[in-house]
Amino acid sequence: MRKSTDKILTFTMALWKRFRLLNLTCRPFYRSSSVCIRRKISENISSKPKASTDAKSTTDHLIYTDTHFALKESLNKIIGQEINPYVDEWEKAGQFPAHKIFKILGNAGFLGVTKPIEYGGLGLDFSYSVAVSEELGNIRCGGVPMAIGVQTDMATPALARFGSPELKEAFLVPTISGDKVCCLGVSEVGAGSDVASIMTEAVRKGDEFVINGGKMWTTNGIQADWMCLLANTSDGPPHKNKSLICLPMNLPGIHIARKINKIGMWSSDTAEVFFDDVRVPCKNVIGQEGMGFTYQMLQFQEERLWGVANVLTAMDNVIQETIQYTRQRKIFKQPVLHHQSVHFRLAELATEVELLRSLLHRATALYIKGNDVTKLASMAKLKAGRLVREVGDSCLQYWGGMGFTSEVLVSRFYRDSRLMSIGAGADEVMLSIICKYMDTLPRK
Ligand SMILES: Cc1cc2nc3c(=O)[nH]c(=O)nc-3n(C[C@H](O)[C@H](O)[C@H](O)COP(=O)(O)OP(=O)(O)OC[C@H]3O[C@@H](n4cnc5c(N)ncnc54)[C@H](O)[C@@H]3O)c2cc1C
Repeated sequence: MRKSTDKILTFTMALWKRFRLLNLTCRPFYRSSSVCIRRKISENISSKPKASTDAKSTTDHLIYTDTHFALKESLNKIIGQEINPYVDEWEKAGQFPAHKIFKILGNAGFLGVTKPIEYGGLGLDFSYSVAVSEELGNIRCGGVPMAIGVQTDMATPALARFGSPELKEAFLVPTISGDKVCCLGVSEVGAGSDVASIMTEAVRKGDEFVINGGKMWTTNGIQADWMCLLANTSDGPPHKNKSLICLPMNLPGIHIARKINKIGMWSSDTAEVFFDDVRVPCKNVIGQEGMGFTYQMLQFQEERLWGVANVLTAMDNVIQETIQYTRQRKIFKQPVLHHQSVHFRLAELATEVELLRSLLHRATALYIKGNDVTKLASMAKLKAGRLVREVGDSCLQYWGGMGFTSEVLVSRFYRDSRLMSIGAGADEVMLSIICKYMDTLPRK
């Protein structure tokens, strides 16, 4: 009993410390939450029905508690003050200052929401990561949230779960605090969808691995201090011979070949990296040598759920801004919105977004109870990839020529969100996984 009280106390203190660090939130959690609840009630009894039934309009939520909402509210302030005012500038520059922004987020606790308290995290369950990701969807581009997601839920889950204490101290602690930027090195020029066929090899020589090969499409790759690298570490059968390795990016033999130009996600830097006899200590292997493929597949589950959560809010925002624009823009003597084909289509899209949100929250609720949600996560990722394209295309259409300019959110969303059907496993990869679970995939 005493032990569990101590644990709760430590946890509360850690949370409180984190939020104290965030100057923007000087009220304790419970007070900000109750203000929040009061505001929600007064909104709900106002005469006009709300346009949206999203997470912000109810406190009686299936997976989010007052703590989730308080976390979202604090993050919303950082986004409003430290990120959104600069997004246009970063998009033009083709990069955002990852170290500066990550330090702000790290100080406020947002880079280690699910990570162990003893390594500087908040020790919360994955539903909090989903809540944070939904809130990050309020950033007015896809590139910055994607870069944050790499740091929190794509390159670090395996390290937090399976890494040695020494490795966590060296790599996880500074990543959670925002002192180090990390990236994930899985995809290669010749291996994206087929992860098992990667060619980068790490050959053991004494206490070191000597790494040769290269990685492609590495998000944060230009700015990263370390990479969570997937490499072949023996000649065994595919899947069994791979390891995840914490690789400092300043080692001799690491070459950033180029920064890749893209149709979207401009503020996120994407690198092609080469390794030429790079020597790294064998103790930098995460968990058990040879288990890298399995660890990466586990890591992908959180990456995919995180990605779905992130586009939900972005879709809400694009639909809402389209409603506002089409309400004031008149054609044939009436607002664009008053044409039935327009308001019906927007209603249909909003319905699809809510369906996807329900699937995500159900998958999250099952995941935090310890269930394997691979099938649901794959379904949600597939649906998200398809839906962002529908939302982007339909909404952009209703903006007319304005939608074709680079000045409005909808056109940026249209470009950025196209990645959703390709990155972190293409739609077809998701379909293959779902078919495996349905036992409909022909066996080779
Ligand atoms: C902006 C950006 C950022 C990225 N960030 C990272 C990162 O940080 N780290 C990292 O490791 N990777 C990253 N990636 C890589 C990304 O995960 C891969 O692009 C993705 O996995 C697809 O691999 P590929 O590009 O090699 O396409 P390929 O594997 O060549 O596939 C091409 C197409 O084939 C189709 N296809 C795939 N499988 C099947 C199938 N079974 N049946 C029929 N058709 C199929 C799909 O339509 C797919 O798009 C990033 C990519 C981009 C564009």
